[in-house]
Amino acid sequence: MKPVIGVTPDFNAGDRQDMGGREPTYFLRALYPRAIEDLGGIPLILPLAAGRALRRQLIKKLDGLLLTGSGPDIPPAFYGERQRYKFQVMSRRRSEFELEMVRLAVGAGVPTLGICGGMQAINVALGGSLVQDIASQVPAALPHRPPRPATRLSHPVAVTPRSLLRRITRRARIHVNSSHHQSIKRLARLLKASAVATDGIIEAVELPGHRFLLGVQWHPEFLYSRHQVQRRLFQAFLKAARTHS
Ligand code: MN
Repeated sequence: MKPVIGVTPDFNAGDRQDMGGREPTYFLRALYPRAIEDLGGIPLILPLAAGRALRRQLIKKLDGLLLTGSGPDIPPAFYGERQRYKFQVMSRRRSEFELEMVRLAVGAGVPTLGICGGMQAINVALGGSLVQDIASQVPAALPHRPPRPATRLSHPVAVTPRSLLRRITRRARIHVNSSHHQSIKRLARLLKASAVATDGIIEAVELPGHRFLLGVQWHPEFLYSRHQVQRRLFQAFLKAARTHS
């Protein structure tokens, strides 16, 4: 049986001109469900259900949870800060849904993969905070959003020894793409950094003791077709999801 992977979409509540304009509209880059489908899972795009009981029921139906990025930023209020720079923030509805789904997935042991903003959601859900804009707040940082396609590799990361990510990649160092302007500031107490860039920016996190809860700051969905290490990332996630089901 193929595992069913819930995939979170982005949401325009009707206050954005792009992505559906004035109608409330879900949207999602097709590469996320495509990667799940290509590598042996059944992607299921989730409704951003508002009710707690409904979310609980939803998490029970899933074999795995994929938190997608590539949307606007998590509103800083969710980690106790005021917004310092003019970047688009995501709808409250999406943020609340994703943050609670992370906590439910932790509680229920549901295998979870967070990509880019999804990794940041994992950190915020578990009590961490974010650098609101790397270029403004971490002057010595590498360019983490260089002007090149996300299909291209950008910078190396050191993979933490004895981490879940290390077991998956089997490498001490891998090269990743990079398309983010935010990063982890305060790492949630329960999380462990599983990969760090040469400038100290945390590039992956995991939850020790959980079957599979991993967040990566890069975008493996752009790389898995050509890079075996990134394919293994999805495969390990899907394998954990199959076992969970
Ligand atoms: Mn990066």
